[in-house]
Amino acid sequence: MSGPRNRYLNSRLQGFTSTIFAEMSALAVRTGSINLGQGFPDTDGSPEVLDAAIRAIREGRNQYPPGPGVPELRNAIAAHQHHWYGLTYDPDTEVLVTVGATEAIAAALLALCETGDEVVTFEPYYDSYAAGIAMAGAHRRTVTLRAPAYGFDPDELRAAVTDRTRLLLVNSPHNPTGAVFDREQLEQIAAVAIERDLLVVTDEVYEHMTFDGRAHVPMATLPGMRERTVTISSAGKTFSVTGWKIGWVCAPPDLLAAVRTAKQFLTFTGGAPFQPAIAAGLALPEQFYLDLAAGLQDKRDQLCDALSAAGFEVFRPAGTYFVTADVRPLGYDDGVAFCRELPERCGVVAVPNVGFYDDQQAGAPLVRFAFCKRPEILAEAAERLLTLAR
Ligand code: PMP
Ligand code: GLN
Repeated sequence: MSGPRNRYLNSRLQGFTSTIFAEMSALAVRTGSINLGQGFPDTDGSPEVLDAAIRAIREGRNQYPPGPGVPELRNAIAAHQHHWYGLTYDPDTEVLVTVGATEAIAAALLALCETGDEVVTFEPYYDSYAAGIAMAGAHRRTVTLRAPAYGFDPDELRAAVTDRTRLLLVNSPHNPTGAVFDREQLEQIAAVAIERDLLVVTDEVYEHMTFDGRAHVPMATLPGMRERTVTISSAGKTFSVTGWKIGWVCAPPDLLAAVRTAKQFLTFTGGAPFQPAIAAGLALPEQFYLDLAAGLQDKRDQLCDALSAAGFEVFRPAGTYFVTADVRPLGYDDGVAFCRELPERCGVVAVPNVGFYDDQQAGAPLVRFAFCKRPEILAEAAERLLTLAR
């Protein structure tokens, strides 16, 4: 959410000109820095999944797939929800394949909100939430997650809900803080949703990236929530193929049909050969998922230790690809200025968190580093970051 006013851009989108991720990745390329900004892994996904995509291309699966997604992928998504969470979804009426979670989020907001409705979300929030809410003509109200654990005050959540509130937009495991809401926190959100008869849209793209034995709890598993919850996830993170942009939605039939109505006029469909490949990925044994989380946990520790040694205040994440750190111990109070100088100072790129906040003061001193990189790259980044302490 940055950039100058563009006179052609409509009023809903003023202020959203370029994403901070694109800006920081361009800075990394320009300065030849290690890019710990934008969250994407620097290794390929599992060979089974890559081979399945190549096979699908060779087999001619290159034309428009059905709008809701190919049946084998919808079946695999339903089987995944059942296997991991005991949730039952009908692959024909309750599962929709989208062009990444980004499209799923946009389609849900466009489908479910009336102009002038309010959407309550936690801040910091993933940047596309603000833009999606704005494109839907809705208004966002935020509840601030606070360090060190990045929990929320349930009274603040209750107070953020008004008669205009249409839905709660929830992300756990959470980007950029790495917080993972536990059952009690989810129950507090669910209680508000039920009391005020709200829909809940949950973004669970980091569902398989939780650490230290924590389990991801989907909102839809809580009593009374399945019927009011739109669950969104994506293959990008789980299978290390962020560029494939295969996402999905699970929801009860009427809710799903509403989201599908918006989705079909955004892209209609996408990713023909990648859809069967992700179906193959979802059939991988449990060990694949456990190894993914364990590998990331090691990387989290590697980068967090390095950041602490370099002098940052580090908020060790419970999940995701990301760690948030406070730059004040390094003599800065502005994360944007810090991130602009970091490539020159030590050849590393991070992302300032302030762009994910309405409360600019709360986000000002915070920056986000991605640790989904090879250990040798993290080791090199650690060496470079240590020079900040000297
Ligand atoms: N939600 C969150 C919280 C994310 O971090 C991201 C980006 N990875 C997305 C949604 C978008 O996912 P996709 O790349 O599948 O569109
Ligand atoms: N989700 C990724 C992140 O948070 C980036 C996605 C993007 O570039 N829009 O870094």
